[in-house]
This record gives sequence, structure tokens and C-alpha cells, in this order.
Amino acid sequence: MVPAALPWPVPVRGPANAGFIPAADRAAAAWNAPLPPGWTPTPFREFVLKVASRCNLDCDYCYVYHLADQSWRAQPRFMTDETAAATADRVAEHVRTHELEFVNFRLHGGEPLLAGQDRLRRIVRILRERLTPLTEVTVTVQTNGVLLDEPMAAFLLKEDIGVGISLDGDRYANDLHRTYADGRSSYDEVVAAIRMMQRPEFRSHFLGLLCTIQLEADPAQVWGELLRLGVEGADFLLPHGTWENPPPGLTPGDGRTPYADWLIPLFDSWFDAPIRQLSVRTFESLVHLLLGGVGAHESFGLAPVALVVVESDGSYEQVDTLKAVGQGAAASGRTVFTDPLDALFDVPAFVQRQLGLHGLSAECHRCEVVATCGAGLFPHRYRPGGGFTNPTVFCADQYALIVHIQRRVEEALERRGTTLAAVRAG
Ligand code: SF4
Repeated sequence: MVPAALPWPVPVRGPANAGFIPAADRAAAAWNAPLPPGWTPTPFREFVLKVASRCNLDCDYCYVYHLADQSWRAQPRFMTDETAAATADRVAEHVRTHELEFVNFRLHGGEPLLAGQDRLRRIVRILRERLTPLTEVTVTVQTNGVLLDEPMAAFLLKEDIGVGISLDGDRYANDLHRTYADGRSSYDEVVAAIRMMQRPEFRSHFLGLLCTIQLEADPAQVWGELLRLGVEGADFLLPHGTWENPPPGLTPGDGRTPYADWLIPLFDSWFDAPIRQLSVRTFESLVHLLLGGVGAHESFGLAPVALVVVESDGSYEQVDTLKAVGQGAAASGRTVFTDPLDALFDVPAFVQRQLGLHGLSAECHRCEVVATCGAGLFPHRYRPGGGFTNPTVFCADQYALIVHIQRRVEEALERRGTTLAAVRAG
């Protein structure tokens, strides 16, 4: 049974004494060092809900099941209605405190569609019933696609849930890692799901593809596959790793830039296309930042990260990709049942993700592309002893990619009779 809404206003539970503690005071105490003048915490607007903690594929690079943190084993298989209701009430509390105009929920896993239509319907309706009177609510799901049949697609459309699908490119690229536990390919089922989501009745809710970069795969083949599929949007994700456990094919400090080398030809194909057939989030974000924009997404730039993960048992975590770092690295020690979202500003890493340049390493401070790079995704900065105050383990790659994109943008602007400095100033 769904419990009644939390009373409002809920007294914020401090670490040592009861009573309301403003988020800024919590953050200052947690950081325990001077904060930038005028800095205030950014309220959370992006909520990743782990509605299912297990998966029906066994991708061998998955940060949830195959990297350092094995805490999924202790999680309930599915998020309950009670946990969804407590989450909704905590978000409502946060919306009221910070007068937020919108929030976004991403249904995630494991594989979120394993939760089934009935459970997902209940969870989404609980969220919307408690939050839509207060703020704008969007809900999306990121799925591996193998359970995305027509009834499921019709359900997601009816519940107004946007759909992102994970596919690593062509059949070869995808089947390098995205397989069932017995090694069977997932490719045909995922492509069938993509084709279905492209049908006129579902297209409005298809958000595009997420492709994790596989260095063994030919980038031209991957690009060709995305164009052949005719998807409108995609993004390329770096695989996870840290300075302690580098990602596949990367030896930090050896002077090679394999991920930049993989991405640069794709950027050029994208940038030089006479008609842009495909929106690529990473490329658009980097160009946006280079032109002087802010707040692209959590992988780049210096904008504060406003994302919280809610595990299926209701515990708050930072970005779930922190599971790549080590056992418990993503844990906050706080839950939707016991703590308001503002209590996350008691956790130094949550504060550090919002400090922009102030939270970065001395090396990044000296770097000419820091405003665009932002030291990359938070977990990729981890080094034992130095925590997260390091460049990303992809430093050389990100530098090479950004410098290349900057050169291409400058050339394009020059042909139009202007400069990057002029655009940034304007
Ligand atoms: S390229 Fe390297 S040094 Fe420069 S901001 Fe990025 S991570 Fe830091």
C-alpha cells in the first residue's frame, strides 16, 4: 500500500541535530574549505530511478554488474510502490523548497522494462500524481530494447514516457559485448525495437540511441549503421574506467589517444554533412560549449551536476557510474525514507560535482580547454589517494578531441567572416 504523502514542511534532519539547515550551510560544512564567493548549491532536477536492479543481458563492460561495486546483489529486484511514493514526496519537498519549474525522471536499471507494465504504470502514476500539481514532470526510460515489443511501446506512449535504446553500432560492434549470458546476440531484437519505435505512432517518444564506444569496432561501420537505421539522435559514451582501472585499450600517459582517434572521423562526418541526418549529443554539447554556451551535460563543461540516483531500495547515490570506482563509492548513506534531498549537500562528493572549476585539479586549472572539458565525467577522475580531484583518465583523448573540434569550428567561422572570440563575446 502506498503511504500517505510526507507532511509538509518536513523538518530537515541534520547530521548531528534536528532542525532546518539550509543547503548552502550544509555544503560549506561538508566541503570544509573555502567555497567560491557567491556560490550556492544547485537543486537537483534529474532523478535516475533504478526501477529494476537486474538485467536480462550480460554486457561484459557493464558498470553495474562487472566493475568494482557489486552492491546490486543486495538490492531488491524491483522498486516498490512505497519507495516510489517516498521518492515522489522527497522530490516534491525539494521542488517546494527550491521552487523548481521542472524535474526529469529517468527510469533505469538493470533493465527497467523487466519491471513490467503494471509496476511501471504504478510508479509513473505515483510520481505524476504527487508532482504535476507542483512542477513540470518528464519521464524517460533507457532500455536495452530486447523487451520493447509493440504492447510495451504502446504502454510507454500511453504513459508519455520517452524511450532511449542502447545499441553499440553495427552487428559486430554490438555483439562484442552486448550479449545474453549464454553469449547469444541481442542485435536483431534491438534493431527490431528501433524499427518499431520509428513507426509514425511511436516516433514522437523515441529519443534515440546510446552507443558505448568499442575500440575494436570500425567507427565508419558504426556511423554507417546509425545512418542506415535512420535514427534522428544518438550519443557515443566512453566506457567506464579510472586511473586505477583504466578503460579498455587505454594506457594513461603513453601518449596515445585511441578514443579521440575513434571519435574524430565521426565528428568530421557529422560536421561536414551537407544535411545533418543525425543529432549527436556529445558533438553538439562540445560545439555549444566552445561557442560559449554552458550546461551541456554531465560529461563536459563546468556546469553543476544536478543529478541524483535513487536505487531500488530507496537509497540515494551519486552518478551510478561511480560503481566503476569501487564497492560503495556511489553510496551516500542517505535514503528517501530518512533524508530530504538537501541532506545530500552533507556529502562532499555531491558538493564537488557542483563546484565547477573550483572543484577541479591544479592540472585542469592550467588547461586551456578546461571550460569545455570540465575534467570529464566525475567517476573517470578517480585515483586512489587523490579521490576525484584529478583530470579524467581520458584526459589526453578529451584534449585531442576538443582541440580538433575547436580548430574545425574556428575554420568554419572564419569562412563566415567571424571568429570564435567574437561569437563568445556576442
Ligand atoms: S583535458 Fe585534461 S587537464 Fe584539460 S580539463 Fe580536461 S581533464 Fe583537465
